[in-house]
Amino acid sequence: MLRTVPAGKFADANASLDEARYVVLGVPFDRTTSFRPGARFAPDAIRTHSWNFETYDLETGKDFSDIPIHDAGNLEEFGNAADMAEALRSTVNPLWKEDKIPLVLGGDHACAAPVVEAIPKDRMVFVVYLDAHMDFRDEYLGDPRSHACSSRRMAEHIGFDNLAVIGVRSVSREETEAIRKTGLRFIDAYAVHRAGIDATINKVLRMAGKREIYISLDIDCIDPAYAGGTGTPEPFGLTPLDVKHVIDRVGTRLIGMDFMEVSPPFDHGNTSALAARLAREAIIRSWK
Ligand code: MN
Ligand code: MN
Repeated sequence: MLRTVPAGKFADANASLDEARYVVLGVPFDRTTSFRPGARFAPDAIRTHSWNFETYDLETGKDFSDIPIHDAGNLEEFGNAADMAEALRSTVNPLWKEDKIPLVLGGDHACAAPVVEAIPKDRMVFVVYLDAHMDFRDEYLGDPRSHACSSRRMAEHIGFDNLAVIGVRSVSREETEAIRKTGLRFIDAYAVHRAGIDATINKVLRMAGKREIYISLDIDCIDPAYAGGTGTPEPFGLTPLDVKHVIDRVGTRLIGMDFMEVSPPFDHGNTSALAARLAREAIIRSWK
């Protein structure tokens, strides 16, 4: 489909902040990447690819042009993750309070923890953390705000029972000990392949109980064959449709989602297109 691509704007984000139910926010920060940097370029790459898709949705019959979406642009640059986290929390907290649905485009996965840390304490939220990596270190290279620590920071805020890591296939010995101590739950990629995605989602929804659901998507949870444009590619991953099914089944219980670790310098466009399409799926499936 041929559509004009306005620079720096997510497709069909035509609403003002006041009238919007969905707020797209970019965080061009990748200073904690541990292998290949470049995720700072992802917010705008994902926006560009979002214009590739039709406004009408085949499966639901809904149309993006009927949905109030606002693009709040990108946060500025930061010298370190602590400063980024503080600015991101104070940007996202008012969105949570006004019951808007934030869609945060990273950046490395360090840009996801502050989004969850900004959730008001009285909201009952469960985080579905999709990642090839456990990200459960207490600190990495001296930085507790590293992308290798994001699931831990989130779990500390919402409770260790209220987060599950799905699709993981890379962990350190130190993290497995922390998992034993905290009771953190995870379903590794091998278990997802064996049980199938529907049975896996059933299990995750049982864990979530009646809580609202936030999805943190590290694009490297998807196999590098489909999503190679990322900082730390890890074989044996989930498929793009697995992740779409998670979004479909969470549906209107979704209160927010992030899209992290797309790295345009290592991408031919397919990884950015996938992230953009998954962001579109998150909108169309949660809209009511
Ligand atoms: Mn991650
Ligand atoms: Mn990862």
